[in-house]
Amino acid sequence: MDADTLRHNIDRLLERVRLSAEKSQREPDTVRVLAVSKTRPATDVRSAAALGLREFGENYLQEALDKIETLADLDLCWHFIGPIQSNKTRPIASHFHWVHSVDRLKIARRLSEQRPEELPDLQVCLQVNISGEASKSGVSLEDLPALARAVTQLPRLRLRGLMAIPAAATEPAQQRQPFAALRQALAELQRDDPGLDTLSMGMSGDLEAAIAEGATIIRVGTDIFGPRSAPPGG
Ligand SMILES: *Cc1c(COP(=O)(O)O)cnc(C)c1O
Repeated sequence: MDADTLRHNIDRLLERVRLSAEKSQREPDTVRVLAVSKTRPATDVRSAAALGLREFGENYLQEALDKIETLADLDLCWHFIGPIQSNKTRPIASHFHWVHSVDRLKIARRLSEQRPEELPDLQVCLQVNISGEASKSGVSLEDLPALARAVTQLPRLRLRGLMAIPAAATEPAQQRQPFAALRQALAELQRDDPGLDTLSMGMSGDLEAAIAEGATIIRVGTDIFGPRSAPPGG
């Protein structure tokens, strides 16, 4: 994409973050922008990095690995945010700094066993099915405390917090409700584990609501890189 549009999009996004944070009496730098670069070419990621973005989120493993290799000369932080198949955990454990989409113990165990010794602990969020949609990935609120306790015991992983992708809603009040529920769930876990510090929530269409409810990482694709075409393989 052209550099002027990208610069304009990033400026406008950072302004939205600043205004939303201000409204909630939060410091803007307590909200990290994760640029979701799925389906975007490595050249767009390079341009975004040149404009100051450092953290990138990917959903599709092979596409991500290609980009990570192509951009190895840059000092970037890579987050895996897509569904995880258990036979794909090894490359995720080897090439990413963060994983936001852990929703079952089997996956967490494999990531823990497969995290290379020479790398720092893998930073992990548990994905919660906050809207209770039958079709969605994510642990239920009911099963969350047990999963969190088990993941905390695993070596080579550092549990940081929670992630959710709520059902789409357009009204701000409707958007805030699931984010408030995720914040509440984190607060309950923090009683046992005060080190938990991350709420990964909010995307292009609802980041203001997420910031109002305490998001510490917002995951933004469209409003940085423009509309997406179809993902690889449908
Ligand atoms: C695609 C995606 C995003 C970004 O969505 P936009 O609406 O393009 O900002 C955020 N989080 C996850 C998990 C995604 O898959």
